[in-house]
Amino acid sequence: MRRETKDTRVDLKGMTLRELEEFFSRWGKERYRARQISRWIYRRFAEDFPAMTDLSKDFRNDLARECRVSAPVAERVESSEDGTVKVLFRLEDGETVESVLIPEEDRRTLCISSQVGCALKCGFCATGASGFRRNMTSGEIVHQVCFAAKRLAETGERLTNVVFMGMGEPLENPDEVSKAISILLSQFGFGLSGKRVTVSTAGVVPAMLDLAEKFPVSFAVSINASSDELRSKMMPINRKYPLKELVSAMKTIPLRSGRKVTAEYVLLAGVNDSSMDARALARLLAGARVKVNLIPFNAHEYGDFTSPDEEAVNRFREVLLAAGIQAITRERRGGDIRAACGQLRGAAKSP
Ligand code: SAH
Repeated sequence: MRRETKDTRVDLKGMTLRELEEFFSRWGKERYRARQISRWIYRRFAEDFPAMTDLSKDFRNDLARECRVSAPVAERVESSEDGTVKVLFRLEDGETVESVLIPEEDRRTLCISSQVGCALKCGFCATGASGFRRNMTSGEIVHQVCFAAKRLAETGERLTNVVFMGMGEPLENPDEVSKAISILLSQFGFGLSGKRVTVSTAGVVPAMLDLAEKFPVSFAVSINASSDELRSKMMPINRKYPLKELVSAMKTIPLRSGRKVTAEYVLLAGVNDSSMDARALARLLAGARVKVNLIPFNAHEYGDFTSPDEEAVNRFREVLLAAGIQAITRERRGGDIRAACGQLRGAAKSP
């Protein structure tokens, strides 16, 4: 682990607008400085103070003495043949995380990480296989967005969507994730609408309800099984928050946000992909305002699951559609650079 002489200046990246306002007012500076600096960091991607050319020289010098704008190093940038781009970031303490930029016709979606590793140990996910290292800070979380937005801006493009579907369980890191969301939604931050920010969770029910109370973001729930028996085997978190509680939360949230919750379902051949499983899932979700996102398993070397064939995927989907449940199959993106769902693990060594 490299920890060189530690920079003790205050890191402004990752502070919410309110925190910046409090910081500047404690420092005896004007309140509007918070908005000004926020725009420089998140709209113009400044990483140092000399770049902030509309601020007086004196103020820039004060800032450089007391503050900094952190920027983890993008150590590896890989492009898939389908246009997906995976970035490996080296954080200041030497840990690594990945994010994935997914260009689609009318969207530019960034999939970001919220933890280094993950503690939930879902049997089919590569991130879980290397265990949990630590929570990411809000600054580290939003830096992934700064990097992608800046890269897109170079070709005149804009980031349109952010999904917390990278490494980690965002709702096991609710404080830092909340700060990051506040910056994503702020008009002095990235200015994204809540519709375009999706928090994906393995089902940490209380934190999910809390977050839905605080922010008008979208939710995706990795449901992945239709019985507690199977789900607890695949996802140990189910023992803490079983399906009944989870589905009830999925029914509550759209009533507040007016928006459907996404139910993600990773399809594992011979495990949860039969027509019977599909019918059970339809029964479980009956009456909920959901859309189902089917994700055929993406292979990795940690575990021995396999992906169902196309026919089984279609059959599963047909059953849901026949039951009146909206269902789409998620297109596999970035598989050739191990950037697909469940394949991210940073630069972690083999367990
Ligand atoms: N912890 C959060 C965020 C991770 S999102 C969550 O569980 O929702 C990652 C999504 O990819 C989840 O829906 C998960 O079920 C799915 N997934 C994990 N491993 C996978 C794999 N190998 N193939 C396909 N999908 C996978």
